[in-house]
Amino acid sequence: MRNVIIIGSGCAGNTAAVYAARANLKPLVVGGHEPGGQLSITSLVENFPGFPEGIQGPELVENIRRQAEHFGAEFTHGSVIEADLRTRPFRLNIDGEWQPARTVIIATGASARWLNLPNEQKLIGHGVSSCATCDGFFYRGKKVMVIGGGDTAMEEANFLTRFASEVAVVHRRDDFRASKIMLDRARANSKIKFLTNTVVDDVHDINHGAVTAVTLRNVKTGETWQRDVDGFFVAIGHIPNTKPFAGQVELDDEGYIVDHGNATTNIPGVFHAGDVQDRLYRQAITAAGMGCMAAIAAERFLETEGH
Ligand code: NAP
Repeated sequence: MRNVIIIGSGCAGNTAAVYAARANLKPLVVGGHEPGGQLSITSLVENFPGFPEGIQGPELVENIRRQAEHFGAEFTHGSVIEADLRTRPFRLNIDGEWQPARTVIIATGASARWLNLPNEQKLIGHGVSSCATCDGFFYRGKKVMVIGGGDTAMEEANFLTRFASEVAVVHRRDDFRASKIMLDRARANSKIKFLTNTVVDDVHDINHGAVTAVTLRNVKTGETWQRDVDGFFVAIGHIPNTKPFAGQVELDDEGYIVDHGNATTNIPGVFHAGDVQDRLYRQAITAAGMGCMAAIAAERFLETEGH
């Protein structure tokens, strides 16, 4: 019987593991289908306190993992595909094997949202991407497009100008959700062109097995046209990874876990940390902070239960 099973190995899960391990709870961390979480697909992180020169995202999350292992945390590959949180001990189905746990910390994060265009999924990995830092390198001297009007879209557009000859940002409105500083930086970059009030109707060409062009539509005039591109980066936000917990853990209308205060959920003994609940800050440091909170909350819960 595990005292704590932590689901997710991003900044939140790994930090929860450091704290739970140091409290001698011997946590098990289930890595999930995106081990290392969002940090593992970022490049330089410049705003995590303690690193005046910045640190590479994958290195940061790996360091936290090693720190947790140093204190006795165990990591396992695989994902939680089903959860039974109705009775205690809780039970988690990890790739077909049920594991009991006294407490559970859900730190499963949020995954990229897609546009659901007819050909989008067929071209993922062939020009369609949700991660400029992972795939930008392949577009040296090429034309790329970024979809979205938030900070991620601005960040990815700026990053892509290191490689691409031209970056078109396509946004469905003419108001931007992005913070002023990020938007101004993108606007000041001569390689970035903005197409506002514009949506994508489809991405081509599945017959070539590669992205060659997109069909765009102006939402104000209804005009449609094609534009040649080599890379198509979707940066329209994320969907929380809460499927295995739906119907048990209280979720809001977008699927994020509803916080019941101090990292708790509606189920006593089930805690949350990171982007799976946080739709506002979504920073490595806030995820780490919440991982710490969840582990301390789990420790105190176990103590009151006499473990
Ligand atoms: P976001 O702020 O939710 O922005 C998503 C963007 O995608 C919005 O512009 C939205 O348009 C657009 N969008 C959503 N669904 C769409 C659809 N079906 N078709 C077309 N466009 C669609 O997401 P985000 O940019 O990923 O940022 C998430 C959070 O992380 C934010 O809090 C952000 O500040 C933070 N962040 C910070 C940094 C940084 O500080 N370095 C970097 C990245 C992200 P509408 O505006 O019309 O809804």
